[in-house]
Amino acid sequence: MEKRSTNRKSRSDYYRDWVAKNRERVREYKREWKLRNPDKVKAARERNSQWMKGYLKEYANSPEGKEVNKRAHEAYKQRFPDRVRARSIANNALIAGEMEYGECEVCGCKAEMHHDDYDFPLDVRWLCFQHHREVHREV
Ligand SMILES: [Zn+2]
Ligand SMILES: [Zn+2]
Repeated sequence: MEKRSTNRKSRSDYYRDWVAKNRERVREYKREWKLRNPDKVKAARERNSQWMKGYLKEYANSPEGKEVNKRAHEAYKQRFPDRVRARSIANNALIAGEMEYGECEVCGCKAEMHHDDYDFPLDVRWLCFQHHREVHREV
Protein backbone atom coordinates (compact mmCIF):
# COMPACT_ATOMS: atom_id res chain seq x y z
CA MET A 1 0.00 0.00 0.00
CA GLU A 2 2.76 2.44 0.93
CA LYS A 3 4.62 1.79 -2.29
CA ARG A 4 1.72 2.68 -4.47
CA SER A 5 1.56 6.24 -3.26
CA THR A 6 5.00 7.02 -4.74
CA ASN A 7 3.95 5.61 -8.03
CA ARG A 8 0.36 6.54 -8.21
CA LYS A 9 -1.13 6.88 -11.61
CA SER A 10 -3.59 9.53 -12.47
CA ARG A 11 -6.77 8.67 -14.23
CA SER A 12 -5.49 9.97 -17.55
CA ASP A 13 -2.43 7.71 -17.22
CA TYR A 14 -4.69 4.73 -16.83
CA TYR A 15 -6.68 5.84 -19.77
CA ARG A 16 -3.56 6.21 -21.89
CA ASP A 17 -2.37 2.74 -20.87
CA TRP A 18 -5.73 1.30 -21.67
CA VAL A 19 -5.77 2.93 -25.10
CA ALA A 20 -2.24 1.71 -25.78
CA LYS A 21 -3.22 -1.85 -24.92
CA ASN A 22 -6.50 -1.73 -26.81
CA ARG A 23 -5.54 0.02 -30.01
CA GLU A 24 -7.61 -2.31 -32.15
CA ARG A 25 -10.67 -1.89 -30.00
CA VAL A 26 -10.37 1.87 -29.95
CA ARG A 27 -9.98 1.95 -33.71
CA GLU A 28 -12.97 -0.30 -34.15
CA TYR A 29 -15.03 1.78 -31.80
CA LYS A 30 -14.16 5.01 -33.60
CA ARG A 31 -14.93 3.44 -36.94
CA GLU A 32 -18.36 2.34 -35.76
CA TRP A 33 -19.07 5.70 -34.20
CA LYS A 34 -18.26 7.40 -37.52
CA LEU A 35 -20.57 5.05 -39.38
CA ARG A 36 -23.37 5.83 -36.97
CA ASN A 37 -22.78 9.60 -37.00
CA PRO A 38 -21.96 10.67 -40.56
CA ASP A 39 -23.41 14.14 -39.97
CA LYS A 40 -21.22 14.78 -36.98
CA VAL A 41 -18.19 13.52 -38.85
CA LYS A 42 -18.93 15.85 -41.73
CA ALA A 43 -19.55 18.83 -39.46
CA ALA A 44 -16.39 18.15 -37.52
CA ARG A 45 -14.40 17.84 -40.71
CA GLU A 46 -15.71 21.15 -41.99
CA ARG A 47 -15.10 22.89 -38.71
CA ASN A 48 -11.61 21.50 -38.67
CA SER A 49 -10.77 22.55 -42.20
CA GLN A 50 -12.13 26.06 -41.58
CA TRP A 51 -10.06 26.32 -38.49
CA MET A 52 -6.97 24.92 -40.19
CA LYS A 53 -7.26 27.47 -43.00
CA GLY A 54 -7.25 30.35 -40.59
CA TYR A 55 -4.67 28.76 -38.39
CA LEU A 56 -2.26 27.98 -41.21
CA LYS A 57 -2.54 31.48 -42.59
CA GLU A 58 -1.87 33.01 -39.22
CA TYR A 59 0.83 30.52 -38.40
CA ALA A 60 2.68 31.03 -41.68
CA ASN A 61 2.86 34.75 -40.92
CA SER A 62 3.90 34.41 -37.32
CA PRO A 63 7.60 34.56 -36.41
CA GLU A 64 7.46 30.96 -35.27
CA GLY A 65 5.79 29.82 -38.48
CA LYS A 66 8.33 31.70 -40.54
CA GLU A 67 11.12 30.06 -38.61
CA VAL A 68 9.62 26.61 -39.13
CA ASN A 69 9.23 27.30 -42.83
CA LYS A 70 12.80 28.44 -43.07
CA ARG A 71 14.04 25.35 -41.30
CA ALA A 72 11.97 23.09 -43.54
CA HIS A 73 13.48 24.82 -46.54
CA GLU A 74 17.00 24.36 -45.16
CA ALA A 75 16.31 20.66 -44.56
CA TYR A 76 15.00 20.34 -48.09
CA LYS A 77 18.15 21.95 -49.44
CA GLN A 78 20.29 19.50 -47.52
CA ARG A 79 18.27 16.53 -48.59
CA PHE A 80 17.99 17.41 -52.26
CA PRO A 81 21.00 19.62 -53.01
CA ASP A 82 21.09 18.81 -56.72
CA ARG A 83 17.38 19.47 -57.09
CA VAL A 84 17.68 22.86 -55.43
CA ARG A 85 20.76 23.71 -57.46
CA ALA A 86 19.11 22.77 -60.75
CA ARG A 87 16.04 24.81 -59.90
CA SER A 88 18.00 27.89 -58.93
CA ILE A 89 20.10 27.73 -62.11
CA ALA A 90 16.94 27.38 -64.18
CA ASN A 91 15.34 30.26 -62.30
CA ASN A 92 18.32 32.46 -63.01
CA ALA A 93 18.12 31.54 -66.68
CA LEU A 94 14.44 32.51 -66.65
CA ILE A 95 15.18 35.85 -65.07
CA ALA A 96 18.01 36.45 -67.53
CA GLY A 97 15.64 35.68 -70.37
CA GLU A 98 17.62 32.67 -71.57
CA MET A 99 14.64 30.49 -71.03
CA GLU A 100 10.91 31.01 -71.27
CA TYR A 101 8.04 30.11 -69.05
CA GLY A 102 6.05 27.24 -70.46
CA GLU A 103 2.66 25.70 -70.07
CA CYS A 104 1.95 22.19 -68.93
CA GLU A 105 3.01 19.89 -71.74
CA VAL A 106 0.12 17.58 -70.94
CA CYS A 107 -2.85 19.89 -70.45
CA GLY A 108 -1.61 23.40 -71.19
CA CYS A 109 -2.32 24.78 -67.72
CA LYS A 110 -0.11 27.03 -65.63
CA ALA A 111 3.00 25.00 -65.08
CA GLU A 112 6.04 24.57 -62.88
CA MET A 113 9.49 23.36 -63.81
CA HIS A 114 10.41 19.74 -63.84
CA HIS A 115 13.88 18.31 -64.33
CA ASP A 116 14.26 14.84 -65.73
CA ASP A 117 17.92 15.05 -64.87
CA TYR A 118 19.24 17.50 -62.30
CA ASP A 119 22.64 17.43 -63.96
CA PHE A 120 21.10 19.35 -66.85
CA PRO A 121 19.52 22.32 -65.12
CA LEU A 122 18.48 24.04 -68.34
CA ASP A 123 16.81 20.94 -69.68
CA VAL A 124 13.43 21.76 -68.23
CA ARG A 125 10.00 20.32 -68.78
CA TRP A 126 6.88 22.30 -67.89
CA LEU A 127 4.15 20.55 -66.00
CA CYS A 128 1.18 21.78 -63.98
CA PHE A 129 0.94 20.91 -60.30
CA GLN A 130 -1.08 17.79 -60.94
CA HIS A 131 0.87 16.37 -63.87
CA HIS A 132 4.12 17.22 -62.16
CA ARG A 133 3.13 15.06 -59.20
CA GLU A 134 2.12 12.29 -61.54
CA VAL A 135 5.48 12.30 -63.28
CA HIS A 136 7.24 11.98 -59.94
CA ARG A 137 4.98 9.17 -58.85
CA GLU A 138 5.84 7.18 -61.95
CA VAL A 139 9.57 7.52 -61.42
ZN1 LIG B 1 -1.14 19.47 -66.65
ZN1 LIG C 1 9.82 17.45 -61.14
